Amino acid sequence: MLRRWLFADQLGQHFLDDPTQPAVMIESKAVFRRRVYHRQKAHLVLSALRHRAAELGDQVVYLRTETYRDGLRQVSGPLEVCHPTSRRARALVHGLPDVAVLPPRGFITGLDDFAGWADQRRGALRMDDFYRFARLRHGVLVVGDEPEGGRWSFDADSREPPPGDADRLDVPPPPGISEDEIDAEVRHDLDRWEREGIRFVGRDGPRLFPATRAEATARLTHFVRHRLTPFGPYEDAMLAADPFMAHSMLSSSFNLGLLDPMAAVRAAERAYRTGAAPLASVEGFVRQLLGWRDFVWNLYWYFDAGYRDSDRLLAMRTVPRWWEELDADSVRARCLSDVLAGVRDRGWVHHVPRLMVLGNYALQRGWRPAELVDWFHRSFVDGFEWVMTVNVVGMSQFADLGAMSTKPYASGGAYLNRMSDYCGGCRYDPRRRVGEKACPFTAGYWYFLDRTRGTLPPNARMARSLAQLDRLTDLAQVKAQEKQRGDRAP
Ligand code: SF4
Repeated sequence: MLRRWLFADQLGQHFLDDPTQPAVMIESKAVFRRRVYHRQKAHLVLSALRHRAAELGDQVVYLRTETYRDGLRQVSGPLEVCHPTSRRARALVHGLPDVAVLPPRGFITGLDDFAGWADQRRGALRMDDFYRFARLRHGVLVVGDEPEGGRWSFDADSREPPPGDADRLDVPPPPGISEDEIDAEVRHDLDRWEREGIRFVGRDGPRLFPATRAEATARLTHFVRHRLTPFGPYEDAMLAADPFMAHSMLSSSFNLGLLDPMAAVRAAERAYRTGAAPLASVEGFVRQLLGWRDFVWNLYWYFDAGYRDSDRLLAMRTVPRWWEELDADSVRARCLSDVLAGVRDRGWVHHVPRLMVLGNYALQRGWRPAELVDWFHRSFVDGFEWVMTVNVVGMSQFADLGAMSTKPYASGGAYLNRMSDYCGGCRYDPRRRVGEKACPFTAGYWYFLDRTRGTLPPNARMARSLAQLDRLTDLAQVKAQEKQRGDRAP
């Protein structure tokens, strides 16, 4: 049996053919020199890599080197590796003699299957369409050729605002994580690397995300049993005092390869079939994994390498320093300050603050999509090149003009006011678009629409907003005000 080279995001048992297969793992320091990662992300990746090496024991050759090539020079004999998750890593492995590249693992729909589906589509590719294909293809939540419960998506049921006057959801927290001697060694090494000049952003803190399969499995089991039911209705809501709400907090575990996504899909489906969770919540979770996650993974490879630099809304502004450095204290807009503080302190916020606070703000300001891809990749514990490219360029920044998404995720303060408890304690007013109390999201929304209306493709769902834009009597003031605000922290 050939020795299997395992990258840091190929850490589950399903990346080996046999539990006893010999392996090699390389900890490349150059990876951390290339980008300024969040400190907790660097910690999680190194901790997960080293925990996996400890589990494998004598079965693995574990190398700490400057580059992957330095490491490979110390390994004798041919190797095999599962298809890596970035174009850069793929080019590396394909260029090496004596390394056989196997199909990808850790995803549900294969690249060829996806390409076969996508090739038959005319024009834009849509997640809803792919998701139906994947449900049928893999037999998930279906009865014959029909969706369980008569609907393919219960998305409309997952848009509940946060409940009443509660400042937290009434759900048990996920099982805690105890750091061990491996985490202590990682922290010690990262401190030393910082002294040597490797730079990180964000604050260090106790590890919040699983670094082992056992930790990830415990979190998944607990989620399915205790948190999946409330996850459904409140998955789009935000509460300042409850950043985790009922989210699974498993994205980093899937993206490190600790968990097999299909096993998680089946666990959720079982919860529905045994009456432990309602269909709407189960379907919402399945849609994230079997739908969105696999859709963006496959699109990363289906689109060409130039997709990452798409900028068809002509967003030419450089991401400002306060954003790059996660300087939440310089921001007075309560929602943005809190979400940026969440990134700074944890390297994680759930998908709605990412899309509707961070992504929305960047979209309105016209910051370069490729810089944002890099920022999300570096600053989030679950960020990897493949996941951020399509999510940021296509979904969040609409920089492909609709190749994979129907309309830009732009909104004013009214949406944030409905879906969060931020606005009550904010110095700005979500209803105002001009003046001292003008909400930067509300004013920014009209500023964005005015700037891009000539470029946006026709879309019935945008038509009402554009008609409203035409009726604004204070548009000139909004534009002057937002021009003056520029890229300063709001
Ligand atoms: Fe955010 Fe505007 Fe609400 Fe303030 S008023 S919290 S800036 S949406």
